[in-house]
Amino acid sequence: MSPAEKVVAGIDLGGTAINYTFLDERGEFLIEGLCEHPARSVEGPDVCLTQITDGLDVACRAANLDRRKLVAAGLDTPGPASGSGVLSRKGSTNFVHPAWAGFDIRAGLEKRLGLPVTYLNDGNAAALWGHVSIFGSGNHATSVSAIIGTGLGGGVIVDGRVVTGRNGFGGELGHVLIPHGLIPGIEGLVPACNCGRTGDLESLCSLTAIRRTLLPHFLAASPGHPLAGEEIGAAAKRVRALAERGDPLCRDIFRVQARALGLFFDEMINVFDPDALVVGGGAMETGPEFRDWFLGEIRAGMPSQREEQATLPIHVMPQGDSAGARGAALDAARVVRERGL
Ligand SMILES: [Zn+2]
Repeated sequence: MSPAEKVVAGIDLGGTAINYTFLDERGEFLIEGLCEHPARSVEGPDVCLTQITDGLDVACRAANLDRRKLVAAGLDTPGPASGSGVLSRKGSTNFVHPAWAGFDIRAGLEKRLGLPVTYLNDGNAAALWGHVSIFGSGNHATSVSAIIGTGLGGGVIVDGRVVTGRNGFGGELGHVLIPHGLIPGIEGLVPACNCGRTGDLESLCSLTAIRRTLLPHFLAASPGHPLAGEEIGAAAKRVRALAERGDPLCRDIFRVQARALGLFFDEMINVFDPDALVVGGGAMETGPEFRDWFLGEIRAGMPSQREEQATLPIHVMPQGDSAGARGAALDAARVVRERGL
């Protein structure tokens, strides 16, 4: 096999850390796990872009890669941002410094690096990685990925392409309304989301939902539970570990999350007739017993499917921590192929 001459970088800018990966023209990732550098995004674009550039040099050294082989870079960040990488004028949790408002982070990084830079939001980037990990690059398959974190991220890939939409809000799966009244165990509950909607996927299926809605709901009926005396934020973070150990109340919370996903996936099946569904995030980064139970509960929450769709697979997102960086790199590689760079 000849040595790879062209390499693209994947740069995942998170709240506190930047994670890097490299993808060569044979389709091999040159970094196995995380390769992180502090993000410093709270200090504004100038400091943060310098951090990204410096961190890229560090990552090149770590991967024993000659930086001159880089032909493009893919960047992904939390939103909200336009499809071309212009951050929201209203600011956001991850970009609080006033100089970020309306800042074109893609163009800013392109100028610093002197390389073509592509942009995806973090959910869409992770969805692209989940998709390619199943179908390979250059495929024409369709998949829907849901990633459970503080919020609910993810994306839709149709015919091998990320659906970003007209304004960059395509694949905002967390804010799709679901018929939550059909979920057993939460009768009468009014689940609110930060976006202002009631009863969307994120309002039930996220760490925020556990803290704000589900844990208080279930604790109210079980005042003697060990988590009842704890501060709610700290208690919410312990729910997964307790659920893994079989705590019935914590399992009930994850059952509601799985059932919510099941209803959501049913909607997606009827819209896209996809080749695969993918689930990622904290709930999946657990032991096989809990993971299989959770996947089983997702299926149990789905209305019965047509015969042709009954065997639709639900995959677990592999390499979840690096999903954003890998998806960003895959997007850059696509642009390199299409433009013949
Ligand atoms: Zn919402």
